[in-house]
Amino acid sequence: MNTRRKFLQKLGASALALAFIPELSPASSTDPGKPRAGDQPTDVPYDGPVLRVAIMGLGNYGGIVARAMQDCRKARLVGVISGTPSKIKNWQAKYNIPDKNCYNYENFDAIRNNPDIDAVYVITPNALHHDEVIRVAKAGKHVICEKPMAINAKEGQEMVDACKAAGVKLLIGYRMHFEPKTLEIIRMRKAGELGRIMFFQGLSGFTIGDPGQWRLNKALSGGGSMMDIGIYSVNGSRYMVGENPIWVTAEETKTNPQKFREGVDETIQFQFGFPGGAVASCLSTYAMNDLDRFFLDGTGGYAELLPATGYGPIQGRTSRGPLNQPHVTHQTVQMEEMSDIILQGKQPIVPVDGEEGVKDMKIIDAIYEAVRTGRKIELKW
Ligand code: NDP
Repeated sequence: MNTRRKFLQKLGASALALAFIPELSPASSTDPGKPRAGDQPTDVPYDGPVLRVAIMGLGNYGGIVARAMQDCRKARLVGVISGTPSKIKNWQAKYNIPDKNCYNYENFDAIRNNPDIDAVYVITPNALHHDEVIRVAKAGKHVICEKPMAINAKEGQEMVDACKAAGVKLLIGYRMHFEPKTLEIIRMRKAGELGRIMFFQGLSGFTIGDPGQWRLNKALSGGGSMMDIGIYSVNGSRYMVGENPIWVTAEETKTNPQKFREGVDETIQFQFGFPGGAVASCLSTYAMNDLDRFFLDGTGGYAELLPATGYGPIQGRTSRGPLNQPHVTHQTVQMEEMSDIILQGKQPIVPVDGEEGVKDMKIIDAIYEAVRTGRKIELKW
């Protein structure tokens, strides 16, 4: 609790540092929380089922999701779970949340008796996801969990198993799986328009600020840049190439061991081999600014996203010309789609279920093992 309080006191400084996260940076974002005209088709009347969501963890990203949900028709923010009473008050006033839908980390198991909440969106530090998701599942509510779903594959699998046993759905907050330019490249690849896929490059990084923040505390983050931002290249390599890697090699570079302590990676470059013959070369870093590029190359052409995973607008081009799909507020579209997945059994183009999260954790485990041992790590699927 003490560390937590210290963290919250430092939030002022952290907020400044966070301005450099590509996802939050003004350079790559036009106020991600603000609705943009033409983003979503709000003019078509909707009278279908609505997913009633409680957000757990009212931090930076929780706030972005909450604002984006104001434009949702199929999902609604109805509750909060927080360790900070003053935030609960503010959110209640801002989002019209009744007292009976407010919980803290001690009492949220009682959500099982609340018929007005369907799902909990867990947006807390990485290492807390495992226990929180399992508690939500045991309370009988569907769970959406932020990336990384856990700090290793074993924990991720336990979360999947707990949700299965409880009969609830588990989805991971992979917002890029619904992004229009990303989906267009996936369509082109599936249609053979890029030929046989031979290469993927993923560059994911930003310069992290405040050394006191939880992202640099292994007990809460589970690692360093790889867990936080490198995971976009890990996940992206799979949906861009369309396969899971069968081998991994990786090398770590650390220029500031005071800031990036044991178990907190600053920069890792990693390589994958895929069953179809493609290879990937990727970089994950907390030490370079605005690094956010995907490049996919096949025998028939290429596709590039730059920026590739920020809040947007995402920019892209292919050997056939520029990508002109509209910008959408990622979190609004994600929550609309997740409502359909949870309540109506919709199958997304790129899966966002817990099993997908476990695949990324399994690859990240292998990357860390490759760094530790210097060996090429084989992966079986
Ligand atoms: P923040 O630090 O801004 O917020 C985390 C919140 O978690 C806190 O405000 C706090 O809320 C709660 N919390 C509970 N226990 C602790 C603790 N021991 N220490 C610190 N906070 C605690 O982090 P972010 O919102 O940036 O990140 C949260 C999660 O979301 C991470 O897993 C991250 O990877 C993911 N994320 C995903 C993004 C995406 O684009 N998909 C973008 C950014 C983050 P309270 O006071 O209400 O309890």
